[in-house]
Parts: sequence; structure tokens; C-alpha cells
Amino acid sequence: MKHTLPKLPYSNDALEPYIDGRTMEIHHTKHHQGYIDKLNAVLEKHPNIADRPVEDLLKNLESLSVDEKDKKMIRNHGGGHLNHSLFWQIMGPKKKVDNKLVKDIAKTFGSLDDFKKQFTDLATTLFGSGWVWLARDEKDKLHLHQMPNQDSPHLHGHTPVIGLDVWEHAYYLKYQNKRADYIAAWWNVLKLIP
Ligand code: MN
Repeated sequence: MKHTLPKLPYSNDALEPYIDGRTMEIHHTKHHQGYIDKLNAVLEKHPNIADRPVEDLLKNLESLSVDEKDKKMIRNHGGGHLNHSLFWQIMGPKKKVDNKLVKDIAKTFGSLDDFKKQFTDLATTLFGSGWVWLARDEKDKLHLHQMPNQDSPHLHGHTPVIGLDVWEHAYYLKYQNKRADYIAAWWNVLKLIP
């Protein structure tokens, strides 16, 4: 079963002025599509695992009977596909607050503001390309992760809840080198928390 590009749940320009339409279009139809194409290409070589959910492949990456080069392809491009699929879903032009999540965040990090500050610090200081994640462990406890490349929290058995893409392709057209401005703007389009 080939993976296909999920539709954006809003128009390309719905997140303006925080994220511009041209960036969304390229990010979604070129970058995300690129991860899917490369994931499909590597899975085509391995029909025995091709139908397993990508989460499952990442959780069990080490035990897959594929060579190291292909494991890396699955890690990078499977991660790229999953990460972006979630990223589109957690953003939106209107807030749709998840009250249980807000409560859990306050319990874990002290307050919503403390959480945002810690998350922002990790996003600002991430060197090179990667993501910052809020993820749940197997006991439902929340954790922050700063992860390189397209690494997914699933690699550690954690379930991603909120992710911020800080690859330059996510913001360069509008923000150029000003990553901190992109991060500050992004909180406005993250719909899950106020
Ligand atoms: Mn991206």
C-alpha cells in the first residue's frame, strides 16, 4: 500500500499572517511529498513490511530485517511523513483547545507559560534541522524532546502530541534567519492550547 499525501485541513493561506501561503504550499506539496516518495521507494523493496503502519516501523526500527541504509531511509522519510502529517493537524486558523492536554501541561510544567518558555528555548537552541516535541510516554506522562532531522518520538516509544518543525524550509521565505520570530508567531496557529 503506497503512502499518499494527506490533504491540508485548511487552505494554504489560512495560517497567514503567521505562516504564509507560499511556504505552506511548498512545505506541503514539495517537502512532505518528497518524504512520502522516498518512503514508498524504500518500502517497495521490502514488501514484507510495506503494509505496517509507519509508527510501528519506527517503534521497531532496530529489529526490522532490512539493512542499515534502508533503516536510515525509513527513519528519515517515515519520520518525515509522520511528523508533517501531525504538524498540519495540530495547526489551524482557529483555536480548538484540548482541555485535558492543557491540564496535563500545567500539572507537568507548572503552567502553560512555563511550558511555552521551555518549548521555545528548545526550539531556539536546536542546532541545525530538527523538531521540538511534546510527547507522551507509555504511562501517559508528558515529556519535551529536542530531536534532530526527522527523528520521531516513536523511535523512543513515545507518542507525539505537539511538534514544531524548525527546519529552515518551514520558515525561511517569510522569516529568513529569524527563527525566533517564526517560533513566536507559531504559537498563534497551534490550535490545541490557548
Ligand atoms: Mn518540514
